[in-house]
Amino acid sequence: MRLGFHLSIAGSLRRAVYQAQVLGCQALQIFVQNPRGWKWRPVAPAEIREFTRARRQAGLGPLVVHLGYLPNLASPDPALLALSCERLSRELSLARDLAADYLVVHPGHGDLSEASFQRVARALAQAVAAIGPPPLVLLENTAGQGRELGWRFEHLARIITLSTVPLGLCLDTAHAYGAGFDLASPGGVARLLADIARGPGLPALKLIHLNDSRQPCNSRRDRHWHLGQGAIGLTGLRHLLSHPWLRPEAAIMETPKRHQGDEWYNLLVARSLVAGLPLLPPPVEA
Ligand SMILES: [Zn+2]
Ligand SMILES: [Zn+2]
Repeated sequence: MRLGFHLSIAGSLRRAVYQAQVLGCQALQIFVQNPRGWKWRPVAPAEIREFTRARRQAGLGPLVVHLGYLPNLASPDPALLALSCERLSRELSLARDLAADYLVVHPGHGDLSEASFQRVARALAQAVAAIGPPPLVLLENTAGQGRELGWRFEHLARIITLSTVPLGLCLDTAHAYGAGFDLASPGGVARLLADIARGPGLPALKLIHLNDSRQPCNSRRDRHWHLGQGAIGLTGLRHLLSHPWLRPEAAIMETPKRHQGDEWYNLLVARSLVAGLPLLPPPVEA
């Protein structure tokens, strides 16, 4: 399982590749635009060439693009839905130009009705029919915060079925824990994998977002935390990562960055978990 981080593209896209190299990452996830704004920053062909060359030299893969936070593919408001669909297509197209392997998408916000799932499925089908795969679009499970869809794997399976285009799954461990899967216990891990198997199917699971959680199980809250220092803990994360059913291509960490050493710590813990090395004691909080 290849390991990497979600890294910042502030300054230039290539900066994320350099950061990944310094850390010794094998995989990389980025946003390709400001995730909290609708304004589109044009990316020049030279910047794309520079990025793809640097990424190839660094041997980074898979390259994952995460869609920004503003698009809501489930919105019943026609204007917001149209804006969201346009943004999805533009980011998917830019991800393809950057030779990304995956585009991670949250299903959206809305009521748990068939109409909501149909809107998401239609938006994804239109974008995928026009562009790719590759990149393959991966639906990410959510914590179910507010009116978020996708906190149950049957939601994601329904969207995939309705879309009739190839789609995959990205499993976020902190979101799953918030949604009620007690990953701190072997029973919770087994229930999670059984739900994935019954829903989108285990072969759809291409990527893990490997995060601990600062919120309790079933809190329906989304708060990522450093590996082994949150409520899931090292034993829970090890149960999950060592499960024979779990064969994702890569694990991307979206852990908080408060100090310079945070990424080194999380990468070291992730490596020891994946390699089955003895558990590290959590560092003392400063
Ligand atoms: Zn996400
Ligand atoms: Zn995530």
